[in-house]
Amino acid sequence: MQFNTLYDVEATVWVVTHKPGMTRVPCSICSSTGVVTLEGETLQCPKCRGARVTTGESTTAALSLVVERIVCNHEAATRIRYFGTREDGKHVTVEESEVFATKQLAEESLET
Ligand SMILES: [Zn+2]
Repeated sequence: MQFNTLYDVEATVWVVTHKPGMTRVPCSICSSTGVVTLEGETLQCPKCRGARVTTGESTTAALSLVVERIVCNHEAATRIRYFGTREDGKHVTVEESEVFATKQLAEESLET
């Protein structure tokens, strides 16, 4: 069965990501930097080990995604999904409705 997709394999598209805000735990040893300097060497803080906790807020960003595979599901309404590698190195699956042609369009979708 023939189906039309907005983007092709190997196309670079843009997706919006939501990342939970993280902050270092309060630590008196490393002043909440997660690292200590001993004799000129930067080492992981022995007390907090650089642990982080969520702030409860999330940040959004537009990231590029290189399409590697397109999957079309005809079972219900036609659903087109893109499999690819995001610029942060993560392998993700995105619905066509959540894919944008340019970074600007992806960012504009955040301003609602
Ligand atoms: Zn620490």
